[in-house]
Amino acid sequence: MSTLRFKALAQLPFIDFRKDNAVEVPKKLSELFCENVFSEETMRNYLTKEAFTSIQDAIKRGTKTPRHIADQIAVAMKDWALSKGATHYTHWFQPLTGSTAEKHDSFFTPFESDRAIERFNGSMLIQQEPDASSFPNGGIRNTFEARGYTAWDPTSPAFIIGTTLCIPSIFISYTGETLDYKTPLLRALSAVDDAATDVCRTYFDKNVTKVTATLGWEQEYFLIDTALYQSRPDLILTGRTLLGHSPAKGQQLDDHYFGSIPTRVMNFMKELEIECMKLGIPVTTRHNEVAPNQFELAPMFEETNVAVDHNSLLMDIMARVAHKHHFHILFHEKPFKGVNGSGKHNNWSLATDTGENLLSPGKNPKKNLQFLTFFVNSLKAVQEYSDLLRCSIASASNDHRLGANEAPPAIISAFIGSQLYSVLEELEKVTNGKLSPEEKTELKLNVVGKIPEILLDNTDRNRTSPFAFTGNKFEFRAVGSSANCAEPMTVLNAIVAKQLRTFKNQVEELIAGSKLKKDEAIFNVLREYIKECKNIMFEGDGYSDDWASEAEKRGLSNLKTTPEALKMELNEKFVSLYEELGIYNHREFEARNEIKLEKYAAEIDIEAKVLSDIARNHIIPAALYYQNRLIDNVKGLKEIFSESEYGDLAKDQMDIIRSISYHVSEIKVGVDELLQAKEDANSTHNAQEKAERFCNEVKPRFDKIREASDALEMLVDDELWPMTKYRELLFTR
Ligand code: ADP
Ligand code: MG
Repeated sequence: MSTLRFKALAQLPFIDFRKDNAVEVPKKLSELFCENVFSEETMRNYLTKEAFTSIQDAIKRGTKTPRHIADQIAVAMKDWALSKGATHYTHWFQPLTGSTAEKHDSFFTPFESDRAIERFNGSMLIQQEPDASSFPNGGIRNTFEARGYTAWDPTSPAFIIGTTLCIPSIFISYTGETLDYKTPLLRALSAVDDAATDVCRTYFDKNVTKVTATLGWEQEYFLIDTALYQSRPDLILTGRTLLGHSPAKGQQLDDHYFGSIPTRVMNFMKELEIECMKLGIPVTTRHNEVAPNQFELAPMFEETNVAVDHNSLLMDIMARVAHKHHFHILFHEKPFKGVNGSGKHNNWSLATDTGENLLSPGKNPKKNLQFLTFFVNSLKAVQEYSDLLRCSIASASNDHRLGANEAPPAIISAFIGSQLYSVLEELEKVTNGKLSPEEKTELKLNVVGKIPEILLDNTDRNRTSPFAFTGNKFEFRAVGSSANCAEPMTVLNAIVAKQLRTFKNQVEELIAGSKLKKDEAIFNVLREYIKECKNIMFEGDGYSDDWASEAEKRGLSNLKTTPEALKMELNEKFVSLYEELGIYNHREFEARNEIKLEKYAAEIDIEAKVLSDIARNHIIPAALYYQNRLIDNVKGLKEIFSESEYGDLAKDQMDIIRSISYHVSEIKVGVDELLQAKEDANSTHNAQEKAERFCNEVKPRFDKIREASDALEMLVDDELWPMTKYRELLFTR
C-alpha cells in the first residue's frame, strides 16, 4: 500500500549527506562580501566620476538619473556582469503574488547576418515590459490599462545570480497604479524621511538632512528532508500538514533550542552564508529554534528597502541551497499542529545621516528629549492605526500563529518595560501650558535624564508582545515567516510619518497660539499622547486569556481572523492617510484589499480540496484495509476457539473494528460536508463575503476530519499508514 511513505523512508539511511555535502568555508567570509553585487566599490571602479556622483545622489537623495548617465551605468553594469560570466539580465521585482518575479533577456544581440554583440543600454536598464497580465491586480487591469512595466530602483543594488544580472525594480501599470510591494514601500520611506527630518531639524538638530528607516528581520523556518517532503501531498500543495498526530516527543524538553546544530543542517547553513555574503546580505546569527528541525537566521540591520529586498532574495536562495542538501525549506507560519510555528520579527528604527539612532537616547538633555519625541510618537502611531497594522500582517497562514500561545495575539499592544513605563507615568503629570523653570529642570535632568541609565540595563524583555521596545528599536513580532516584510514596513513607516506630521503641527500651534517655548510645547503634546497611548501599553503576558478580556475592556480590537481584519481595512481614516502621504489612491488600496481577500479564500479552498483528497484516497482505504485484516483475524479466532473463549479473545479487536468504522464514517461525512460548504462559499462573488464564508463555514470543518484521521493513525498498523508521520518529518536530520 502506502508506497510513497516507505520509499521515502527507505532512502534516508543510504544517503550520506554528511560526507557528500560537506561545505568548505573560506578562511575569511568577509572577502566574499558583495562579490556578486554592483556595489559602491564596483561602481567606483567602473564609472566615470560624473556618473558615480550622479548615481550616489540617486541612491542617497532620490534624485533623478539623467538619461546619458543611465546609459553609462548600463554599460558599466553590463561590462561588470559579463566579467562575472553573466549572459542575461532581468528586472527583478515583487508582484503581489508574494514571491519574486523575473523575466530574463539575453545581452546577446545579433546584427547583420552573421555578427552579434552583447548589448545593454540606459533604456533597457530603466524599463522593461514583462507580460504582466497574470499577476494579481485586484481588478485594476481588467477595467483599465492591461499592460504593466517594471522600472529600475537605483536605491537597491543590482546583483548576479548564476548567469543573470538582476536589477531590483518596481512594477506599475501603464495608468500609474502600483502592482507590487516595493513602490508603496519606497513612498512610505520617503514620507517618514521627510516628516522625521523636519522634526529633527526644527527642534533638535539642524545638521540632519535625511532620516532612514532601518529594518533588521529575523527569519524562522523549518528544514524537512526532501524525500519525506515529497511524500506529503499536503506539504507540497499547501505548505503545511493538514493531518498528522503529534509525535511522542515534541518540544517539551526544549532540547533543540540553542542545542548543537545537526551536521547536514550546518552544511546547509554554511553554504547559505557563503551565498549571502556574495550577494551582500550581511547575515550574522544562526541558531536552532524552539521546535525540532526549526531554525532561524538574522542579518545585521540595513536601510529598509534594501533589507526587504534582501529578505525576498534570501528566501529564494534558501530554497535553492536547501535543495542541494536534500532539504525542503518550509516558510509556512504553522506547518505542524502542536509544534511551534515560524515568524519573522521586524526590528525597526530610524537613523539620521548624522549617524544617530533616533530611538536611542543620547548624552545630553536635548538628545534625550529627541529620543522621547520619536519614542512616544511611534507608540502614538501604533495606537492610532492599530487596525491597519493588524491588516498588514493578515494572511490565512499567519492566522494559525497569531494568538496560538506561541506568537503574539491578534491584539495590537506595545511593551516598553516597567521602568520606561514609569517615566511615561511621570510625564503624564507635566503641567498644562507653561512650565516653571524648576519643573523644566526637573523634567530634563531627573525624568527624561534618567532614560539612558534605564536603557543601559534593559533586561526587561517580553516575548509575548506584538510590538516591543527593545532598548534602541521596536520589534514588530507579529509578522509571518512567509510574508514579504514590505507591507508591514509600508504601514509602520507611513503611520509614523503621519504621526510626526501631526505632532509638528500641534507643537507649532502651541508655540504660535499659547506662546509656549519649544520644549514646553513638546512636553505638552507628548503628555497628551502618553495619556492616549496607555490603552495599548501592556506589560503582562500577552498569551493569557486575561489579556484578551482586559483588552476588550480597554476597547482594543481583537481581529482574530484575516477576513475580520480586512473588513476594517477600508476605513476612511486609513484611506485618507494613504492619500495624504501619496502612497495609494483609493482604488489601489481597495484593489489590494481585494487581492488579499481573494488570496485568503483561494488558500482555504486549496486546503479543503487537498484535505478531502487525502482523506478519501489515502486515509479511508488504509483504515478499511487494516479493518479487513482485523475482521479476518476475528473470523479465524471464531473458527479455532470455542464460543465462550472466543468472546473474550476477540473483544478488543472488535472494539478496534468498531472504532475504525466510526472514524471512517466521521471522515466520510466530514468530507461531504466540507465539499458542500466549499461549493457554497465559491458561489459567493463579493470578495469580503467569500473570504468570510471560507473562514467561518469551510475552515472549521477541517477539524473533525483531522481528528478522525489522527485517531486512525493511532489505530492502524504503522506498516499500512500512508502518510509520513510527524516523528519522521521532524526528527530526520
Ligand atoms: P533578539 O530579538 O533575538 O533578542 P537582538 O536584540 O540581538 O535579537 O536583535 C535582533 C535584530 O535587531 C538583529 O537582526 C539586528 O540587526 C536588529 N537591529 C539592531 N539594531 C537595529 C536598529 N537600529 N534598527 C533595526 N534593526 C536593528
Ligand atoms: Mg527577535
